[in-house]
Amino acid sequence: MVDIGTAQADIGVIGGSGFYSFLKDVTEVTVRTPYGPPSDALFLGELAGRRVAFLPRHGRGHHLPPHRVNYRANLWALRSVGVRQVLGPCAVGGLRQEYGPGTLLVPDQLVDRTKTRVQTFFDGEPLPDGVVPNVVHTTFADPYCPVGREAVVTAARGRGWEPVDGGTMVVIEGPRFSTRAESRWHAAQGWSVVGMTGHPEAVLARELGLCYTSAALVTDLDAGAGTGEGVSHQEVLRVFGENVGRLREVLLDVVGKLPAAHERDCLCARVHDGWELGIELP
Ligand SMILES: [Zn+2]
Repeated sequence: MVDIGTAQADIGVIGGSGFYSFLKDVTEVTVRTPYGPPSDALFLGELAGRRVAFLPRHGRGHHLPPHRVNYRANLWALRSVGVRQVLGPCAVGGLRQEYGPGTLLVPDQLVDRTKTRVQTFFDGEPLPDGVVPNVVHTTFADPYCPVGREAVVTAARGRGWEPVDGGTMVVIEGPRFSTRAESRWHAAQGWSVVGMTGHPEAVLARELGLCYTSAALVTDLDAGAGTGEGVSHQEVLRVFGENVGRLREVLLDVVGKLPAAHERDCLCARVHDGWELGIELP
């Protein structure tokens, strides 16, 4: 284990091994949190002149289904090593015909349809050290960092990959895919894409005063929008594999463009001004 005092990063990327396996001089850091273990060790390295911490959301063997990811531990661990801005690439299903496989959508809204996940640090439960967090109601009208969103949209365009700028991601519990009726209902609400990991990742980042930006890669047309037998995991993996290279390039460009942590001027950094949290953020 490496002393986290010497291993710092200010940008975090929560994604699969495709995002860090090419890095040289990676330091693997195991972080303990009051909420239990994160999905994996953090992989720290340098990218575009910045210190970046990568965390495989599902663990390096992809053994954690979306509903069993310890989202609180993941965000807490990232903040513990200095991270203040988080990029959350994820695979989603398209809810409109025009959002076919290979579409990159940078959502500006989300709808939570998860069922079993702890989605707050401020739950009144004492931490292992006996400290009890206060009741805190966090502003979440705009769940994503506007600066991060702009950086992803600009970077994608710079790579010749015109993204969908804005849209609503509905997050379902999973791990199963939607029925056709559910999918049609999601689409009828005007929602854009459906995923399984975008929540509570986004709100927990906000609760820790972190900037959080989602970059949603469409891997399939969801059951209501598509034809045939419905979404298959093999198809999702195939399309993700075909696009992971250019998604990685976009994210690398984003890393170089994000402001320094102390220069952040968005709501994310100020969301708890005036609140007594009752707990010390790492
Ligand atoms: Zn922000």
